[in-house]
Amino acid sequence: MNPYQPSGGSEPGGLPLLAGGVLIAALCTGAVLHIVSQWINLLVVFPMVAGAAVGFAAAAIVKMRKIRAPLLVGGLALVGALLTWSTDMGIGYVRMRMAFSEEIGKLAEAYESNTEDKLGADALARTIDVVFVALGSGEEPDGAALVATLTNEPFPREDGTLADPVPRPAFPAVVTGYLRFAAAEGTTIQNNGRSETRVGATGTGLLWGLEVLLMVAVAVGIAFARASQPFCEHCRDWYGDKEQIFVVSADTDRKAALEAVRQGDAAALALVANPNPDPKKFVTLHLRKCPTCAASPRYVRLVRNKVSGRKNNQSNLAKGMVDGPVFDKLVAALTPPPSLRG
Ligand SMILES: [Zn+2]
Repeated sequence: MNPYQPSGGSEPGGLPLLAGGVLIAALCTGAVLHIVSQWINLLVVFPMVAGAAVGFAAAAIVKMRKIRAPLLVGGLALVGALLTWSTDMGIGYVRMRMAFSEEIGKLAEAYESNTEDKLGADALARTIDVVFVALGSGEEPDGAALVATLTNEPFPREDGTLADPVPRPAFPAVVTGYLRFAAAEGTTIQNNGRSETRVGATGTGLLWGLEVLLMVAVAVGIAFARASQPFCEHCRDWYGDKEQIFVVSADTDRKAALEAVRQGDAAALALVANPNPDPKKFVTLHLRKCPTCAASPRYVRLVRNKVSGRKNNQSNLAKGMVDGPVFDKLVAALTPPPSLRG
């Protein structure tokens, strides 16, 4: 048994399509997340659903365009998840900016009608930037300081001296100001709709980190798993999704069965083969293969089954590729006759 190695290949145009698809999925998911969060915010569920939306969008394109590059696909899903979160936050930033624009715009209009000076859009944008930075450090800019910033003139301090005009802050400083202000606003957590818990700036920052981690983990997990599926490079097609299942042995013989399957040793497997093991604990061999050709190696999983009630807890003992003739001999060792389940 050898591990399955994805080739890294894809259909022509597959990667640009994947990148574009992930971008669109991330922007849409982030926007929907922002809108829904206005009414209700489910802490763990929403980030996971958002991550799943991006992950499944990526997985659909990966399957369609036959992209066998798990690391690349996982990396794009990671970027998509980060973009989803940034879109959600970014819309909040833009909305607050628009609200400031309206308020400070009124101030600018009043100044213009009083003095007949023209301030222009640049003065307004610079003032809004200054306000974001000030709010981030916990200050509330007042009217005199705002007008001074609008007109880019020195303004009087309380002690009568003049302060230099505030230069326009760089974009990262503005975004940091917004994030610090938004975090300081805190978060309200609903406890089953009965009571509410408020968390402060630090708690909100930690919650954001948790949200990002969940989104990334779910999106990358789904997309990576899809791109890691076995593929026949000869027929240029995915292996069939449906598994053929053979009962191998009792659970107590699983180590010997595992060693036999790993080595491709049919004689050793015949020694532990048992077509009717304890139905609560047993070992199965799962087969997937190319739907078209017979020559490609088989993708097999050796699985430990533990049945309790109606639930079968399955765990992989091993998975990988086995050559067709070797696999046929292994299955022949399980007879008479290989019982089929599933
Ligand atoms: Zn094939």
